Amino acid sequence: MSLKTRNPWVDALIAFHKDPDAVVMCPNCQRDRLRFEDLYVGPVKAERRLYCATCGAQNFARYSEPANPTAANSHDNETDSGRVP
Ligand SMILES: [Zn+2]
Repeated sequence: MSLKTRNPWVDALIAFHKDPDAVVMCPNCQRDRLRFEDLYVGPVKAERRLYCATCGAQNFARYSEPANPTAANSHDNETDSGRVP
């Protein structure tokens, strides 16, 4: 269940971060691959726009550090395992 809560846009962001040529299908229409453009790139901040040219879905992501997408931390807790009665 915990995997379902992960935002597909965040997954896309991470995929593009690892490999700028990664093929990530649009979470909205599933018909075209997502593209991205960097709106702003600074020494400590960056803003990237993910978008689908087919359906027009888009999402913005801000990096507090270029090497560390902030959105990736949203759902990363493991509360299901390791619970002791
Ligand atoms: Zn789309």
